[in-house]
Order: sequence, then C-alpha cells, then structure tokens
Amino acid sequence: LYYRKGKTPRRPAPKKPTNNQKDPVGVYCRVRPLGADDEECCVEVISSTTIQLHAPDGLKANRNGEFKETQYSFKKVFGIKTTQRELFEDVAKPLVDDLIHCKNGLLFTYGVTGSGKTHTMTGSPGQGGLLPRSLDMIFNSIGPYQAKRFVFKPDEKNGMEVQNQVDALLERQKRESQQSVPKTPSSRQKVDPEFADMISPEDACKCEGVDEDSSYSVFVSYIEIYNNYIYDLLEEAPFDPIKPKAPQSKILREDQNHNMYVAGCTELEVKSTEEAFEVFWRGQKKRRIANTQLNRESSRSHSVFIIKLAQAPLDADGDNVLQDKNQVNVSQLCLVDLAGSERTSRTRAEGSRLREAGNINQSLMTLRTCIEVLRENQMCGTNKMVPYRDSKVTHLFKNYFDGEGKVRMVVCVNPKADDYEETMLVMRFAEMTQEVEVARPVDRPICGFAAGRRQRNQERGGPVDGEPPSTLSQLQNLPPVPSCEISDPSDDLTLPRVIECMEKRMKMRQMFTEEYNKAANMLKSMLQDLDGKLLSKENFLHEQRGKLGEKDKMIQNQKNEIDRLEKKSKMLEYKIDILQKTTNIYEEDKRSLQQELDSREHRLQRELSEKKRMEARLHGMVSDEKLRWQKECERRVNAKELEMQNKLWVKDEKLKQLKAIVTETKTDSRPEKPQRPSREKDRVPAKRSASPSPVPTTQPVRPMHRRSHSAGAERWVDHKPSTNVELDTVMQPNVPKAIKVTAPSEKALSKCDKYMLTHQEVASDGEIQTKLIKGDVIKTRGGGQAVQFTDIETLKQETPVAPSRKRRSSETGPNQDDKDGDWTDVETRCSVAVEMRAGSNLGPGYQHHGYPKRRKP
Ligand code: ADP
Ligand code: MG
Repeated sequence: LYYRKGKTPRRPAPKKPTNNQKDPVGVYCRVRPLGADDEECCVEVISSTTIQLHAPDGLKANRNGEFKETQYSFKKVFGIKTTQRELFEDVAKPLVDDLIHCKNGLLFTYGVTGSGKTHTMTGSPGQGGLLPRSLDMIFNSIGPYQAKRFVFKPDEKNGMEVQNQVDALLERQKRESQQSVPKTPSSRQKVDPEFADMISPEDACKCEGVDEDSSYSVFVSYIEIYNNYIYDLLEEAPFDPIKPKAPQSKILREDQNHNMYVAGCTELEVKSTEEAFEVFWRGQKKRRIANTQLNRESSRSHSVFIIKLAQAPLDADGDNVLQDKNQVNVSQLCLVDLAGSERTSRTRAEGSRLREAGNINQSLMTLRTCIEVLRENQMCGTNKMVPYRDSKVTHLFKNYFDGEGKVRMVVCVNPKADDYEETMLVMRFAEMTQEVEVARPVDRPICGFAAGRRQRNQERGGPVDGEPPSTLSQLQNLPPVPSCEISDPSDDLTLPRVIECMEKRMKMRQMFTEEYNKAANMLKSMLQDLDGKLLSKENFLHEQRGKLGEKDKMIQNQKNEIDRLEKKSKMLEYKIDILQKTTNIYEEDKRSLQQELDSREHRLQRELSEKKRMEARLHGMVSDEKLRWQKECERRVNAKELEMQNKLWVKDEKLKQLKAIVTETKTDSRPEKPQRPSREKDRVPAKRSASPSPVPTTQPVRPMHRRSHSAGAERWVDHKPSTNVELDTVMQPNVPKAIKVTAPSEKALSKCDKYMLTHQEVASDGEIQTKLIKGDVIKTRGGGQAVQFTDIETLKQETPVAPSRKRRSSETGPNQDDKDGDWTDVETRCSVAVEMRAGSNLGPGYQHHGYPKRRKP
C-alpha cells in the first residue's frame, strides 16, 4: 500500500510562501424584499455599491430627529431584484474558481434573523443559493476528471492520503458489501424533493481552465456550532427515535501545519452535485430534528458546510493518480450561515423588541472583536493578539485570516423599519470588516509531467497493456464455480464440469501469474530505474546541500562580520558624537574668549586714544601757558626796562639840571636860556616862561637811542590831525624839514627821530587850547618804531592887555619859584611814555599815538 499524506489547506508556517500581496475582505450587501408591501422601509439602495439607511419615523420622533441618513459602501450591493444566479456569479463563483485552483476560500452570510442569510446561502427549490450552486459548479468543472472513490482518503489528522487503484477497489467492494456507500443517484429524481431542481439547467456553470491531467475528489463536511459546541451533522450515529441521545460535540484540533480542523468530523466523498445535495439534505434534516427535539433556537446556531477538493496530477501514463503525497493538493471552501446578529431573541417573542441580556451571541461577539483587532493591527502596525480562541467559529477560521485565502461576506439586510437599529450595527461591522486584509493565496507549483496525459491515455483506449481494467474486470468475470454437490452416483457431468472450470481457472490463474510476474518484473525494472534516478538525484541533492551548507556558513560568517562592523561603526559613531560635543564646547569657549579679548583690546585702544588725547591737550595747555607766560614776561621785562630807562633818564636830567645850577651858582652868572625853537619865538613873548624844556632841543636827550643825525639835522614828524581848526595865529609851530602827516604814518616815523602831535581841545574857559605833544622816535628791538612822549606844550590864546603874573595853568618848563612843579612835570611825561608802551588807552586824544610794535614772524 502506498499511503500518501495529502496537503492541508494551508502550507506549514515555516514554509509560508513569501506572499506580500493582500486583499481586503470582500463585503457584499444583499437587500431582501420587504415581507409586506405596507411595511415601513429604512434601507435604500442608492448605487451599485452604496446603500442608505434612514431612521424610521417613530425613532426620529423619539430622538428629536437627530438621526440622519447614513450611507454605507460595499464591494457591491444587490438589490431586491437580484437573482440567486447573479449573486452567485459575483460572490461565490470566484471562490469556486479558486478552490479548483488549489486556493482556499471562506464565504459567510451575516445579518439579522430573517434578513435572508439562509435564503442566500442555501436557497429553496428552484432558487438554489450559493451552496448548491457552488457544488454544482464544482462537479460541472471536475466531473470528467474525478478520481475513483477512495483513491483520495482523508486521514484522521486533516490530511489526505492517496491509495492505489487496487486498494481503492478493495475498499469500494468492502463498502458496497456493507451497503453503506450511497449509490450515486442516476438521476435527479432520486434526490429528496426538497433539493430537486435547485438549479435550473440553464444556470449551470463551470470553471474554465481546469487541469485535465489531474484527478479530483470532493469531500464534504457539515457541522453546526451552537452555544459554542461543534456538532457533526453528517455523523452516522444510530438514531434512536424513542430515546434520543444528545449528539456528541466535537473538538477543534490543530494539524501539523497549524490549521484548525474538527477532530473526528465526518468527511464524505461525493461524486456528483446530487450526491452532495443529498448529503447536505441529510445534514439539514438532522439539524432540524435536533433543534426541535432539543428545543434549540435555530437562529442562534451557525452552520458550516466545508467543501474539500483533493487533487493530484496523473502519472506519466495519464492513467493513475500520481502516488506522490507532495503532489496532492487539498483546498477547501467554507460556506457559513452565521447565526442572527441581533441582540434580541425573536423566536419566542417574534417582532417584539424585548431585549434579553445574555442573549447576545458570544461567537458573533468574538468574531467582531477579532475583526476589530485584525483591522487595528493591520492599520496601525500593532501586533495585538487576536482572540480567535475565544469562540469556536473564530478559532475554526483562524487560518483564513492569519494564513492565506479569500474571505467574502454577504451582509443580508431586511429593509423593514423594525430592524433599523440592528441593521445599523450590522452595517458598522461590515464597514470594519472591509478594512481587514487577508493574504492572497499563491499559485501552486505544477507537477513536472507533460500536459495532455489523460487525453493520450484515453486515445490509447485505456491503460497500458490493458492491465488494470482488464485484469480487474476479468477477475470480476471469473467463471463461477459450478456446484460440486454430487447427489447422484451416476452423475459424471458435475465433476468434469468442475474440473473443467477449475482447469479454466487454473489457466487463468497461470495467465494472471504470468501477467503479474511480467508486470512485477516490469515494475521492478521500472523501480530499479527510478531507484537509480532517485539515487543520482539524491546524490545531486546531497551535493547541493553541501554547497548550500558552505554558502550558509559563508553567509553566517559574513553576517558575523557585518555585525562586528556594525557594532564598530556604532562605537565610532558614538565616539564621533562625543568628540563633536567636545569640539562644540571648545569652540564655544574659544568664541567667548575671543569675544573677551576683542572687548579688552577695544577698551585698551580706547584708553590709549584717550590718553593720547589727554597728552595732546596737556601738551597744548602747557605750551600755551608757556607762550603766554613768555609773552607776559617779555612784556613785563620790556616795561620794566623802559621804566628803568625812563627813571635813569629822569635822574640823568635831574643830575644835569643840578649840575647846571651848581655851575651857574659857581660862576654867578646864569647861562642863557637855551634857544627855543623858532616857534617859541613867535609866541607871546611876555607870557613865555623860560622853562628848561628839553624839547625840542638841540641836545640829544638819549644819545644811545637816537639816530646818527647831527643835532641840527633832526627830523620831525609833524602830525596834525585833519580835524584840527586852523587858527590863523602867528604862533604856529614851525618845524623845518618836518614831514607833515595828518594820520599816524609808520613810514614817516622811520625817517624821523622826533615826533610832534598837535592836539586841540576846548579848555574850561571856552577857548580852544592847542597842545603840542612831543616825543622821541625810538627804534624798538623788534624793528618797529615807538614814540616816547617827552613834553606837552600848551598854546593858549589870551588877551594880551592884562598881562598878569599868573602863570598858565599847564605851562611847561621849570618854575623857578616852585621847583616841585617842575619835578611833577617830568614825572608826568615819564608816566605817559610808560602808558604808551603798555598799549593803554590814554583817552580819545591819544588813541592814535600808539604805534604797534612790529614783530618779525
Ligand atoms: P435568515 O436566515 O437570515 O434568518 P431567511 O433566509 O430564513 O433569513 O429568510 C427569511 C424569509 O425571507 C424566508 O422565507 C425567505 O424565503 C425570505 N427571503 C429572504 N431573502 C429573500 C430574497 N432575497 N428574496 C425573496 N425572499 C427572501
Ligand atoms: Mg437562517
């Protein structure tokens, strides 16, 4: 026996194909027609993908109209006029296609009780639902390519075994003798009338692209989950109608590929749509009976119809199924009619809105939670545990959500207003479900045999050498052994007949043995051949494995190296980071120090410039002061010098006078008065006192300062301001060779050594008084000229009639009687000179007499 384990719906986890593609759960909506035309409606189909819910009037009134219309979108919306066929085409057909192409699918109906779930899934005679249509399509597609019964044989662990033809035949014979295998109904008439004409012949459809070079077998299971217990609806338990035994619940197990399955669940191989219907019907009947007898509420149970499709490629001859477990594929389609989603019990209080706490279907609650968590995980990238295990329904379908496959949901809606609130909850669940994604199933690898094997085999007219069918049929057609009973001693017919038969049988046996040996030898050589091939392949594999191992090692080494380098790089990065930070700190320090330096330099600069400025100022002040003092000193020295000279001169003069007096006294004769200048002679002779006026005199008063002119050649500057009144008197001063000027002239001064200013003023008696102010021109050290006034002569006109003794008030010249006056006169002159030198203002009359000293630059 060559038992081979088939594949389970899902690939083992470690060998999970790298499939990153995901599809969202396909959610469809089907709106059933209202039960009665006058019923209030709250659902409206507004497009092929959208429905709109509006609160019924009563509710609106109760809630202040806060309920607005809400819209829900689906992959597709099916309105009340949708036929079962249309629905099937869109919703289930792709799943059947997938099933035949080795992909798993899950289809469930969801909705409130009475919304049409069962109608959609199962349907009714003439209006077959998704389930009968799926079965029909499967058999329409794989009908001619089905394997013989028992070639595929489910093991007890959700796997699939492959039996060879002989074993399968023997098992068939065994079952037939037990009469337990239902004969394939030859016509639809034999099927329960409930399932007759479920699908009209024109609705029949089939899947395209079915692999002809594979053999197929369909297995069905039918279970019911009620109150979180699993019941096998196809279990062949002897049913005692008198004392009904509560059905035994089943448990869920995980197979070696981590797929969930109902342990010990009946899996019936069905060969036709009718047979499948029959099986389903049996299950239905059992369900109904159990529900009634156990007083169950059918709306609260979930029914799960599982279609398993086993397929394996034909061998190279295109005759038998390839006896290779790796080539067996099992896919399954689960059709689930879920319990009513409502929170209210309806069977006993139909129509009433009585809410029963605890009546909420736990499995549906878990389903909702699982979908919610799945969605959250997928949308937020979280890894929250999905509580599949909390209910049997979710636990059983775990693989569909976290494995691969296609999941579709038909949300059934009854548009009646009574269902409004429940329908809204259904819609919300549907909306959420649409956001969950399930891994897209991958295509299975195809076997390495050439295509068209079945076709060629059939053209050849059957199996190679006509072996299995002929042999087997001949085995079945062995000549019957005639009765060996000999009752009559004269019966010589029986024995020869028996002998003949036996001989015949013997011959056949020999033939069979020969054939068998031949076949065995052929098989042996084939096997040896294959063995050789296998060996070489194994060797090759071994080699490859070795290489792989080496490569693995290399990769490991490289990985280690990469790890090391990564660590190192991290370390270096860390160091760089630290250095960067240190650099930053130093740079900060540097910056602040630089700033401080700058500011200090700046301050220093400022202080320096301030100092320089101060120095310059001080320097200026000092030099100014010095200059000023120098000037002052010079001025004072000059003044002092002049004063001293004047004093000296005065003393000299006094001494001379004294000398003269002395000599006069000695000789007893007074010397003649010195000759007065010519103008003196013109004056009133009587009044003219013989004063010893030294000016103008022929004698040099100060020989050292005088020019080197002879006494007689003295030149005068005769300064008569133009404002003067011409007094046509005879007593005009007459100075020979004088340079007459009306304004002070330096040029004139430089040429002369005497100076005379004629000054007029009105005297106290009203007469015009003319004063002759005389002086010496002195050369100053600076190269300029200065006038030193030496004498003032006053000319006054008086009536000559009354000559009196009275002297002119300011008549110059020494008074013989009053010697003191003479001294005073001299003193006055002296002070005048000093005042002139100091540049003082002597009054309006003398203003212009000050000649500024000329300085050389
Ligand atoms: P559920 O299984 O959701 O409780 P059912 O499928 O039993 O609801 O439907 C309740 C009733 O409504 C049944 O008599 C069924 O024939 C009818 N029904 C449901 N859906 C439709 C439909 N699309 N067209 C016509 N009748 C329907
Ligand atoms: Mg139902």
